[in-house]
Amino acid sequence: MARILILGAGLAGLGTALLLARDQHQVTVIERDPDGPPPDAGDAWDDWQRRGVNQFRLPHFMLPRWWHLMRTQLPEVGQALTAAGARELNLIGMLPVERRGALQPGDERFDTVTARRPVLEAVLSPAAEAAGVTIRRGVAVTGLTTDGSTRVTGVLTAGGTAISADLVVDCGGRRSALSSWLQAAGARAPYEERADCGFVYYSRHFAGELPAARTNLLHSYDSLSAITLPGDNGTWSVVLATASGDKALRGLREPARWHAAVARYPLVAPWADGEPISGVDVMAGIEDRHRRLVVDGSLVATGVVAVGDSWACTNPSIGRGASMAMIHAVLLRDLLRETDPADHEKLARRFDEASTRVVEPLYRATLWNDQHRLAEMAADAAGATYETGDPRWPMSKALFAASLADPGLARGYTSLTAFIATPDEVFAGPGVVDKVVALGMGAPRYPLPGATRAELLAAIG
Ligand SMILES: Cc1cc2nc3c(=O)[nH]c(=O)nc-3n(C[C@H](O)[C@H](O)[C@H](O)COP(=O)(O)OP(=O)(O)OC[C@H]3O[C@@H](n4cnc5c(N)ncnc54)[C@H](O)[C@@H]3O)c2cc1C
Repeated sequence: MARILILGAGLAGLGTALLLARDQHQVTVIERDPDGPPPDAGDAWDDWQRRGVNQFRLPHFMLPRWWHLMRTQLPEVGQALTAAGARELNLIGMLPVERRGALQPGDERFDTVTARRPVLEAVLSPAAEAAGVTIRRGVAVTGLTTDGSTRVTGVLTAGGTAISADLVVDCGGRRSALSSWLQAAGARAPYEERADCGFVYYSRHFAGELPAARTNLLHSYDSLSAITLPGDNGTWSVVLATASGDKALRGLREPARWHAAVARYPLVAPWADGEPISGVDVMAGIEDRHRRLVVDGSLVATGVVAVGDSWACTNPSIGRGASMAMIHAVLLRDLLRETDPADHEKLARRFDEASTRVVEPLYRATLWNDQHRLAEMAADAAGATYETGDPRWPMSKALFAASLADPGLARGYTSLTAFIATPDEVFAGPGVVDKVVALGMGAPRYPLPGATRAELLAAIG
């Protein structure tokens, strides 16, 4: 049993804490935001302030991959989520029957349970405490303690207190100060890559009766993507995502124009019919970021690892962050089952290897998708058709178009959005490539009904 200090009580920090506490580790979570969740998770949307997380009240959807991990690794959390009003749904069941055919054995892999972000945390936090985790809120970490070398032995807090641990797990999110703390402690700078992802999100939450409209979660149109996300307790959200350089669409920040735009997309329009429970929130400047504690083959430090957004985060338009964080947390839990944390170097090296092998390809694939979509939106804004030398992009678009006409391909495409299969796995299915080429290659650039760019610009004035 190790003494483990987790920085940050976000989705990664709480998920990691739960997994490690169930393995009998002595886990303490340190969170700089002072307030804990209200006793009734359903009140968290109205009552809980969390300034440490910019996206706290922005739309979140938990994909089937996340739900599968919760259900299998932390079943008690799954039950608490549904008790708190989280929404159970099936991504194939959400499609119109003429697209998906009858539900089939195996479709339960598309099941998920989702909720607004404050409600998710308000369920995870007491679950972690019930599992024996100590959560200390209102304590900001300001640095690391070391044994005089690059072995981290604990953290320093804003009050000047040192807290020691056998392992420090940084779940401090996309803006974690881990790199500067390490350098202040005398270590080399970790490897770090970062870039502004280039999207801007205009989102609004609603309450009422969830629209009966049957759709995918993500809809691509000329110059804009629309995302419709069911939430807990009779709520849902709608996001319009555009390229942040597309100045002509900045009027979407005004509610009247936002609604005028949504009205031009028949599959999305019914989702704007509820009672708004937020304004139109705008979020831009979200960085894609990846950090590694191994540089040129050498460890920067031991005794500390990064999990979740602190290790890698991407643009959220395909909603994978929480799933990637849970996959990462499970890797750490499994590694600690076979590696003594006192063997600092072995643990740090093996966690880096496992993260690079398992999670980095997921991060790269997400960047790949975003970069193509962004370039496509830039071409839309310029009145051009996006051309790329990468044949996988037109094939992925053709898969979507073909999925509108073939129930098998609807499942293939939905496996990608559910984050339960890779494109290679989907395209390796018998006859899939031929069917996608036949049904999808000649399809219109944007096969779903909706406004052209000119119509969109006219709608928003
Ligand atoms: C706009 C937006 C929408 C998103 N939508 C989705 C979605 O639909 N689905 C999905 O799966 N993911 C989504 N994500 C990503 C998702 O929020 C994260 O990937 C996931 O929550 C994991 O984050 P985390 O716990 O690593 O970091 P965070 O959630 O950022 O938590 C970090 C925590 O660390 C604390 N902290 C930071 N520094 C210190 C310090 N010095 N001392 C003490 N505490 C500290 C912070 O207060 C915070 O509580 C979205 C992200 C954004 C930006």
